[in-house]
Parts: sequence; structure tokens; C-alpha cells
Amino acid sequence: MAKVLEGKAVAAAMAGQLRLRAEALARRGVEPRLAILRVGDNGSDLAYERAAAKRCAALGIGVETVTLPGDADTQAVLAAIDRVNADERIHGCLPLRPLPGAIDDGSVRQRLSARKDVDGIGPASLARLFTGSGEGFSPCTAQACLELLDYYGVGLRGRHAVIIGRSLVVSRPLALLLVERDATVTICHTKTVDLPALCRTADILVSAAGKAGLVDASYLRPGQVVVDVGVNVSPEGKLCGDVRFEQAETIVDAISPVPGGVGSVTTLVLCKHVIQAAEAVCGLPDGTER
Ligand code: NAP
Repeated sequence: MAKVLEGKAVAAAMAGQLRLRAEALARRGVEPRLAILRVGDNGSDLAYERAAAKRCAALGIGVETVTLPGDADTQAVLAAIDRVNADERIHGCLPLRPLPGAIDDGSVRQRLSARKDVDGIGPASLARLFTGSGEGFSPCTAQACLELLDYYGVGLRGRHAVIIGRSLVVSRPLALLLVERDATVTICHTKTVDLPALCRTADILVSAAGKAGLVDASYLRPGQVVVDVGVNVSPEGKLCGDVRFEQAETIVDAISPVPGGVGSVTTLVLCKHVIQAAEAVCGLPDGTER
């Protein structure tokens, strides 16, 4: 049976370290602080906001929610971003996306200061992924996949990682992070020919398609490590990933579950970035990922 890569253990280890770092900041009179920017009151945004706020509070990170009505226009959102950028008490900002359709997402991503872009959505953060230098942060979900693999000691150097998905939010950033760590990466999408055969060539298979049950036994072989990023609702109404877990666990070496895998680590990465941003302001070395 495959080893189950539980996100909870990773999150607990990260939380222990982050609490110490927040305490070191507190001794200097600095409270790391996150602004969550929410437009409207969409249920999943509210749920994410509550979960993030709870996690932050437990680590000594202050949170304030900047809310705008659901019919706010782009100018109103940009004005809110300007206030956050100018507020020295705030170290990181998380705009909850997708933003309502009338708002120009590109302008929002451009406007947020790279120093506060803790979910890695802006052009400077993406440039940093490409160049390995400059300001900004890695997108939290992509970074969470690496945290999970690192915690469980999965070697990356020289290994073939196949990623299902090419989104700017998850898959492409993850591909760059894996290349930076000396993996050989193949990115797949809906036009990829013979996806199962390609996936079977992977040492590390990451699925971020958002398709329940896409990855079945035909995509897998013994020896693989599988990271399931997908968050879907099954026809039975249950939360599930992209991978048919019950098939995969009898074939591969290790697999992350959904729920309880990557998703449990993502908020911790957000917290880590807020603390890192606060440390940068204080001139403290952060010792975290690039
Ligand atoms: P997205 O923008 O919809 O991208 C999905 C990607 O998967 C696309 O590139 C698409 O290819 C590809 N794809 C879809 N079906 C496919 C198929 N049958 N065969 C091959 N490729 C296929 O989604 P996303 O924002 O990257 O998110 C991916 C998943 O991760 C979602 O389930 C989302 O809910 C989840 N997620 C989880 C977390 C977390 O913390 N755990 C965070 C963010 C997102 P094309 O480009 O050709 O369309």
C-alpha cells in the first residue's frame, strides 16, 4: 500500500517554526500582518477567509479584512490596493480571487506591491519564478506541493515530474519551482496526446486538472509519488481530488490525499510568506525558499 502524504503533519511542522519566527518579530515590536481583500460575500471566499484568519491568529499573525461591495468597480479595488500598499503595518495582502467579472484582474495583480504579494499573483512574483531573483513570492499552492515533497523526503534532482495542468495559478509556477530544484518537468493539458502513457513515465506525478477521477490506474505505475492538487466535488457530493485514490494506493509508492493533502499546507505557506515579508521589512534574515 502507498504511503499517504498527509498535509497535516507538514502543516504542524511548519506551524512550529513559524510561531518561533513570529515570536522573534514580536520581540522587536513587530506583528506580522495580513490584509485579506474581499469583493462581495461569496460563500467560498468567506470560508477561505475564516480558515486563513484562524490559522494566522494561531501563529501570531494579525489579519484585517478589507471588504468591498460585490458591485465595486476596478477603480475602487485599485484604490483599496493603494491603501494596503501604503499601510506600513500591513506586510502581506491576499486578494480573494477570482474577482467578480467586472473587475480587471490584470490591473489588480499589477497594482499590488511585490513586497506584499504573498500569494505570488503579480508580474514581479512571476518574473522572480523565471529569473530566480527579485522581489515577490511563489504562489502558495505551488509552493505547498514542494513543502509536502520536501517534508516527506522525496528527492527531486534528476527525476521526471509530470504535471497535469498549465494554469498560471498552480501548474506553471510549480513547473518552474521543480526545474529550479533540478527536476525534469513535462507540462500536460487537454491537447496532450496519450496522457496516460506520458503520466506513466513520471517519477513524480502532479495532477492539477480539477477533474474528479481523471487519474486512474492506467496513468500509474509502481514507484511513483503522486501529488493530487485537484479539489472537486464527486457525483456523490463528496470533496475529492483528481486521482482515484483507491486505485492509486494499491499501485504507487506514495500519494497525497484530498482532502488532507496539499490543501492543508497552502494556508501555512501563506503564513510563511507574511512572516517572511515582515522579516524583510525588519532586515531579519528569513532563511526560507527563494
Ligand atoms: P484551471 O485553471 O482550471 O486549470 C486546469 C488545467 O488542467 C488546465 O491547464 C487544463 O488544460 C488542464 N486539464 C483539465 N482537464 C484536463 C484533462 N482531462 N486532461 C489534461 N489536462 C486537463 O485550474 P487551476 O486553477 O490550476 O486549479 C487546478 C485544481 O487545483 C482545481 O481543482 C482547483 O480547485 C485546485 N486548487 C487547489 C488548491 C489547493 O490549495 N489545494 C489551490 C488552488 C487550486 P487546458 O489548459 O488545455 O484547458
